[in-house]
Amino acid sequence: MLFSEIIGQTQIKQELLETVRNNRISHALLFYGPEGSGKLSLAIAYAQYINCEQKGEKDSCGVCPSCLKYNKLQHPDLHFVFPVATNTKVKKDPVSDNFIAEWREIFLQQPYMSLDMWLAHIGVENKQGSIQREESREIMRKLNLKTYEAEYKVMIIWMAEKMNETCANKLLKILEEPPAKTLFVLISEHTEDLMATILSRTQIIRIPKIDDESMRQKLASDFSVSGEDLETLVHNANGNYFKAFELMSFENSNSDFFNYFTQIMRLAYAKNLPELSTISETMAGIGREKQKGFFEYALKMLRENFILNQKKQEIVYLYKKEKDFSEKFHSFINERNIAQLTKEFNEAHYHIERNGNAKIIFFDLFIKIMMLLRS
Ligand SMILES: [Zn+2]
Repeated sequence: MLFSEIIGQTQIKQELLETVRNNRISHALLFYGPEGSGKLSLAIAYAQYINCEQKGEKDSCGVCPSCLKYNKLQHPDLHFVFPVATNTKVKKDPVSDNFIAEWREIFLQQPYMSLDMWLAHIGVENKQGSIQREESREIMRKLNLKTYEAEYKVMIIWMAEKMNETCANKLLKILEEPPAKTLFVLISEHTEDLMATILSRTQIIRIPKIDDESMRQKLASDFSVSGEDLETLVHNANGNYFKAFELMSFENSNSDFFNYFTQIMRLAYAKNLPELSTISETMAGIGREKQKGFFEYALKMLRENFILNQKKQEIVYLYKKEKDFSEKFHSFINERNIAQLTKEFNEAHYHIERNGNAKIIFFDLFIKIMMLLRS
């Protein structure tokens, strides 16, 4: 990871570069900041820079033997610790090394990933990931290994607040008597869950959310989005690149939802029962996950249109095509029907979740919309 690949964070990069220039590399750092701000990327870029054999003023060279290994997260002196849980493959005492291949894979794909995305990637999204006692043994073992190639051995602990007490106590002992030429970078989103004694032994670097201008540039080049849509995306991302990434993937699948929603509303308004029956068949066939996604989407559209109806334009965040549609549609969503409409959508969602007959649930919902839109 090069510093130049990281979105924004100019000041933090500057500060990190200076510690190397002035030979003031701390042995234990804590990168603390919100999700999607680039903490993990910054930690890796910093470690890579420290170990780069031909570093420049502002960045690693990217091509020396050390950098080449860092680029793939495969340097023998670069170690990772992150929350894990048992899954179908690892049934007992899971440690980070059990998942290192998946870790490299997902980081190279999406370096701004969230904890949930990571847990989903290793198939444990319904569990709490954690860093357990077994992991502290692994940390000790790795620190006792001789340094293979690098000047600095690096241990990056992602989501350090997920360490349990035993593990945190073991780590504390190491931080009290740090081995020479070892760099610990702890990464955390919730320092209140970290032991105070650990906090007091690290140098805390606050990583702010990504500034809007850097976000704007990055999003414009990553996704072909511009103008008003770009501004809406920047606003909704709120300095969290992962959020923007999610919104864009959502936006792609949302194209379908938008089409269904507008079609249904038009047909309901026109009281076109035969067509409504056909579309309820279509909706019954798209699968439960998508159906639930559609309900959430529809609820958002209703809410935003109601706000528009209340003439509170400044708090509405819609994409351009949604805005165009809502220009007329919002006059139909008012205080006489919003509560009932919301209730009907929530109820349909409830019945779908409980495996009701989807075709009947949808057709029933459409008839209610038909009556409510006219009220
Ligand atoms: Zn290099």
